[in-house]
Amino acid sequence: MEKREQLYEGKAKKVYATDNPELLIVSYKDDATAFNGLKKGTISGKGVINNQMSNMLMQKLEESGVPTHFVEELSERETVVKRVSIVPLEVIVRNIAAGSFSKRYGVPEGKVFEKPTVEFSYKNDDLGDPLINDYHAIAIDIATETEIETIKEYALKVNEFLKSFWKKCGVTLVDFKLEFGKTSDGTIILADEISPDTCRLWDSKTGEKLDKDRFRRDLGGVEDAYTEVMRRAMEHK
Ligand code: UDP
Repeated sequence: MEKREQLYEGKAKKVYATDNPELLIVSYKDDATAFNGLKKGTISGKGVINNQMSNMLMQKLEESGVPTHFVEELSERETVVKRVSIVPLEVIVRNIAAGSFSKRYGVPEGKVFEKPTVEFSYKNDDLGDPLINDYHAIAIDIATETEIETIKEYALKVNEFLKSFWKKCGVTLVDFKLEFGKTSDGTIILADEISPDTCRLWDSKTGEKLDKDRFRRDLGGVEDAYTEVMRRAMEHK
């Protein structure tokens, strides 16, 4: 496996080509952004935690029947993944009201839902990632109806797996964001990352936030929260 030219630099990761056209290398950075890039900072050690946590969770998801882009962890910050074209949807699953949901619908943070919700945002920085429904996504050719159904099925499977995994760790899974991609043969697989950057994780006993909200809301102790949640994840892997 040979690392070739950098293809892309995003907010939290860099992506490199390899000598295999079907494979890429992602490299996780410590850079953090929030509010569509308006707030910028660094969370020291975050890249290592997110890389290792995401890889561990994706391997377990793969075993429980959700196909993922994970191929091989190369180092603390670098992983080989399958090359996909990203479906431009942020797929958000919620178990408890928080963040933009609470704001949009005037629901207090912490309201526990009877069953999980799934929603989509159209990944488009210029438009500010607007909410989009299934019909709209199909109408503007973001995905086919079958692909949307597959994505929802996988997203709910991921939720069931993550909920019980985090419960063992003494952590409540509030909500999270997934991204899916399409391989060259058209298969939908889970891509991007699963980490404290993309999940809301609350300590089950104290309700303490152990995720990126500490950065977004200037709560302090960001690095400690990431380290703690990683320690618990590795203890229960
Ligand atoms: N999320 C994310 N990237 C985004 C938007 C949201 O990873 O660009 C995650 C976020 O960390 C949370 C969940 O998706 O776990 C739901 O976020 P929400 O829609 O409440 O938006 P926010 O309040 O984070 O703006």
